[in-house]
Amino acid sequence: MAPVVYPTTNLTATEQMCLERGEGIYVFDDKGNKYIEGLAGLWCTSLGYDNKEVIAAITDQLNTLPFSHTFGGKTHQPLIDLAEKLAAMVPVDDAYIFFGNSGSDANDSHYKMLRYYFNAIGKPEKRKIITRERGYHGVTVAAGSLTSLPANLAHFDAPVEALSILRTDAPHYYTGRKGNETEAQFVDRILQNLEDQILAEDPDTIAAMIMEPITGASGVIVPPEGYYEKLQALLRKHGILVWADEVITGFGRTGADFGCTTMGIKPDLMTFAKQLSSAYFPISASVIPGWMYKEMVAPSNEVGVFGHGYTYSGHPAACAAALKTLEIYERDNLFGHAAEVGDYLQAELRRIFTDHPLVGEVRGKGLIAALELVSNKTTGATIAGGKGGAVAVKACQDNGVILRAVAGNALAFCPPLIITKPEIDDMLTRVKTALDTSY
Ligand code: PLP
Repeated sequence: MAPVVYPTTNLTATEQMCLERGEGIYVFDDKGNKYIEGLAGLWCTSLGYDNKEVIAAITDQLNTLPFSHTFGGKTHQPLIDLAEKLAAMVPVDDAYIFFGNSGSDANDSHYKMLRYYFNAIGKPEKRKIITRERGYHGVTVAAGSLTSLPANLAHFDAPVEALSILRTDAPHYYTGRKGNETEAQFVDRILQNLEDQILAEDPDTIAAMIMEPITGASGVIVPPEGYYEKLQALLRKHGILVWADEVITGFGRTGADFGCTTMGIKPDLMTFAKQLSSAYFPISASVIPGWMYKEMVAPSNEVGVFGHGYTYSGHPAACAAALKTLEIYERDNLFGHAAEVGDYLQAELRRIFTDHPLVGEVRGKGLIAALELVSNKTTGATIAGGKGGAVAVKACQDNGVILRAVAGNALAFCPPLIITKPEIDDMLTRVKTALDTSY
C-alpha cells in the first residue's frame, strides 16, 4: 500500500483498481480493462474523459498566466468572464459569486457569509441552519456537520451544537412512510414536524435551510410531488432562506439547467462545484443574492477586508476550465441532450428493473438515478444487512460498469452528460447481468 490516507475508504481495505486513462464515457485500468464510468467519476465528469477543448483552455491559460490570487480585488479576465456568465445563468436575483475549490469549502463559505450577513443587519441571533437527514454537503467542519450521513459524523466529534445545526426529516417516501400513508400525507407529516421544530427553536434564530434538490450520496432521493412547493411556503412564512446545494444537480444533470428548475425551487443561495468545470480543474462557486452582498460591504469596510478567501479562489486555470465547460454545454445543447437521454435512461431503468426481484424502487430524474436493492420486494427488507449496494457494485465492475453504492442499499447511476442511448443500453444490459448473477 502506498502511504496514502485514502478518502472515504475503509482503511482496512487494500488498494482497489488503478486507473490509467479515460476516453469518452470510458476509463481503463492498468490491466487494460475497460469500464463505462456510470457515475461520471464522483458525479462530476460531465464531458467525459477526453475533452480536448477543455484541456486546451486549461493549458492555454497555464501558459499565459498560471496563477493569480484574487485578494484585495486583484482580478483577471477569465474570472470576470466566468462570474458574469454564471450570474446570468442562475435563478438568483442580481447574483454575486464567491469562488472556491470544492463543494465542501463552498458550503463552508455560505455558512460563514450567512453569519456575516445576519451580523451586518443586526440579527446575530439568526444563525441556525436546518439540514435534512440523509443530506450530504461535504466534509469540512461546517459542511461536514451539515452532512447527515453517519460515516461522515462518527468519530469526528462534529461540533454540530456549536455550529447551531438542526436536522429535519429526509423526504424519501419509500423508506420514510408510515403504514398506509399516501405521498401527500407523508409530505404533510414531515413538514408539520419541521414547522413544529421551527416554532420550538424560534424562527428568528434560524437563518437558512440547506437542501440538495435531488440528493446524491444519500441515495438519489427525489422528493414527492408538492414537497418543495409546501416547504418553500413554510420557510418563507418564517423568514428562513432557501439554500440549494447544486454540487451534483447543477448544469444539466436533472435534465434542466439546474436541479432547482427541475424541482421548482426558487433559491436564495446556491452552491456549485463538480460539473462547473466537468471536473477538469477543481473549482466551486457560492452564489448569493445582491441584497445580501450589499449588506456585507459595510462590515468589510469597518474591518478593512471581507476576511474570507482561499489562495486558489478564482484560480485562472480553473476559471478557464469552467468557462470552456459552460460554453460547450451551451453550444452543444448538452442540457437538452441530457433531458432527452435522461428520459430514456429513466424509462429503461423502470422497464428493466421495476419487476426485478432485487429492486424495491427505481427512482431518479434526468441523468441521475438509483435502484433501491432489497431482498424482499413486499417488505422492503435489505440485502446483507444493508450492504447490498457494495455487492452490486462489485458485480457491475466485473461486468465492465463502474457505479456507486449509496446509503448502503442503493445503486446509483450518474453517467457523463455526453452519454448516448446505445451506451445507456450497453450499460443497463451489463447491470442487469450483474444483478441477475450476483446474489
Ligand atoms: N454537496 C453535495 C451535494 C455533494 O454531493 C458533494 C460531494 O459529493 C459536496 C457538497 C462536497 O463536494 P466536494 O467533495 O467537492 O467537497
